[in-house]
Amino acid sequence: MQVGSSSSVESVRQQVQAVWEDVLRYFELRREGQSGLSTGVDWLDAQGEPLPSYTPITGELLGTVNQPTPEQVEEVVSRAKEAFNVWRMIPAPKRGQLVREIADEVRRHKEQLARLVTLEMGKIIEEARGEVQEWIDMCDFAVGLSRQLYGLTMASEREHHRLYEQWHPLGVVAVITAFNFPVAVWSWNAMIALVCGDTVVWKPSSVTPFCALAVQQIVARVLRRWSLPEGVVNVVAGTSGAIGSVLVDSKDVPLVSFTGSISAGRKVAERVAARLGRTILELGGNNAAIVTPSANLDLALRAVVFAAVGTAGQRCTTLRRLILHESIYDTFVERLIKVYRQLRIGNPLEEGVHVGPLVGGEAVQTFLTAQEQLRAEGGRLLYGGEVLEGYPSRLYVRPAIGYAPAVCPITCEETFAPLLYVFRYREIEEAIALNNGVPQGLSSAIFSTDLREVELFLSAKGSDCGIANVNTGTSGAEIGGAFGGEKDTGGGREAGSDAWKAYMRRQTVTINWGESLPLAQGIRFDV
Ligand code: NAD
Repeated sequence: MQVGSSSSVESVRQQVQAVWEDVLRYFELRREGQSGLSTGVDWLDAQGEPLPSYTPITGELLGTVNQPTPEQVEEVVSRAKEAFNVWRMIPAPKRGQLVREIADEVRRHKEQLARLVTLEMGKIIEEARGEVQEWIDMCDFAVGLSRQLYGLTMASEREHHRLYEQWHPLGVVAVITAFNFPVAVWSWNAMIALVCGDTVVWKPSSVTPFCALAVQQIVARVLRRWSLPEGVVNVVAGTSGAIGSVLVDSKDVPLVSFTGSISAGRKVAERVAARLGRTILELGGNNAAIVTPSANLDLALRAVVFAAVGTAGQRCTTLRRLILHESIYDTFVERLIKVYRQLRIGNPLEEGVHVGPLVGGEAVQTFLTAQEQLRAEGGRLLYGGEVLEGYPSRLYVRPAIGYAPAVCPITCEETFAPLLYVFRYREIEEAIALNNGVPQGLSSAIFSTDLREVELFLSAKGSDCGIANVNTGTSGAEIGGAFGGEKDTGGGREAGSDAWKAYMRRQTVTINWGESLPLAQGIRFDV
């Protein structure tokens, strides 16, 4: 069934059921009719349609979550708004303490949460552990930040005047997330928003509701120890139409942080802009890596494989376009195919597997259609691309490598699957033009030991992406930096650096501590 493994389809099914039951018990969640609505500690009676959740590992139904109705989501927003009045007045370092306690809890539940991520989303267990670790890292970062929400003091041009800026909490932050990081993306937003004094309403992907509910259970353990009003940390699990649109259109939500596809992000951005709200947009990528003749090819090869097939090609930072210098093209492609042949594809719960299933049938179809389109546009498949037989679901595919003669329509699209296009280049300027020649602008990388090439890639006329890496792959960003991309990727920044500023409102303050009233720009206005 699985390359390098003797486990049968039936034993995988049994393992999935056993892990699922264990996880449900552990997080005290119900298999059927679990509420998808909480404003803190308890589950509320969600009265909307049940939402099914499936595991890509076997394609079987895991359970159902009751969605809140749109009216209930409106109530949650009101409660979050009221809770904001309390939460914003708690000193930021004390808010940090709550986040520190959350970190302690997550550390305790890391393995069980990782197993749930693998079950519901399908990523390999090692990457699922990494995802939960990202939440822990975000907590640690946010705790430090809670003592560093600094404003600047500026020199006033007027005598006896003080000019400075301060940062205040913003309000209710809606966090709408994608399926592929069912825990981490929320944490990039929520941990920062909480120390900034905001309350958070989370609409997770409708594909991964149980992950969000387990997260809420972990947070609830901490909230129980604090006497806060309900409404500081909220979850409303459900679909985009029933739930997402309420958050997008609510005047009581000053910031919508949206992670997802470009097409959905565009709609969300337009609607939030129409009510003059704020968005943070983290949308699709179409990331490229350039491998130059001076590169350490062993290192580049390892980085390329992880970035291209990690999370079965379902990361926003997945490497989708490999730009190889003509002098190393043949050798590199040959070596790449050799490594692809050794990939272990199979049950993502099993240690040592490299590639798990795709998230659903639609993703498989998109993968196959993109290959057809590549052929129709003059490219060809060099390796892989088929749906694998004899696996526990029809969601296991062989990662593919395709040759593209030039930038063509299909290589300008993000196909959310393990399909890597290779290109050939002669001059470094040509490689950079290929890197930049797509609508998206998330992540990019160059493999080179030539200082001039590296600096060109990093210069103002180099990569136009939000992330530019040297001698490391396009995926796997650390939380310390601000994460996000340009162009159709949406321009938002999350996680580290000064990304926190988007979650607060800036106030510029002028204090006249003198006895006269000098006006700025030397204006005289005597009455
Ligand atoms: P998706 O766009 O289908 O859904 C994302 C979320 O948006 C879901 O919660 C969905 O229910 C909600 N949604 C969709 N339309 C909506 C609307 N009109 N109003 C309100 N909510 C709406 O994306 P997906 O398939 O879950 O995730 C894959 C995509 O996400 C890829 O394009 C990937 O690149 C992108 N992504 C980007 C980042 C990043 O940081 N840039 C990170 C992860 C994923």
